[in-house]
Amino acid sequence: MPLYGVYGSHTTETCPLNNRKTAETIVSFADSDIASIAQKYKINQGLGQYHSALEHTFLWIVDAEDPHLIERFCIDTGIASFNYVKIVPLITFNEGVIPLVKKIQNL
Ligand SMILES: [Zn+2]
Repeated sequence: MPLYGVYGSHTTETCPLNNRKTAETIVSFADSDIASIAQKYKINQGLGQYHSALEHTFLWIVDAEDPHLIERFCIDTGIASFNYVKIVPLITFNEGVIPLVKKIQNL
């Protein structure tokens, strides 16, 4: 289960709360069959979508096969048309960090 964090941010001017064009983009995205579309980009599952409305930032956590396809998904769906997007490989604390620390530190 390869995990990625999709970190996004936008300006107040492009925020869907203030901008009709980006509002239409995000509502259209939300009303679409996101899971079905995501499958085409080998995004197996969305595990969380967290937003900070007034910081104009978000973090989506996805189980996906290829970060380049996540990038393509963000472009094709319009997410990247008004957000700066950073895609970061993630590990979990218990299943990723601790075994790695134990192995590297020989504990
Ligand atoms: Zn915003």
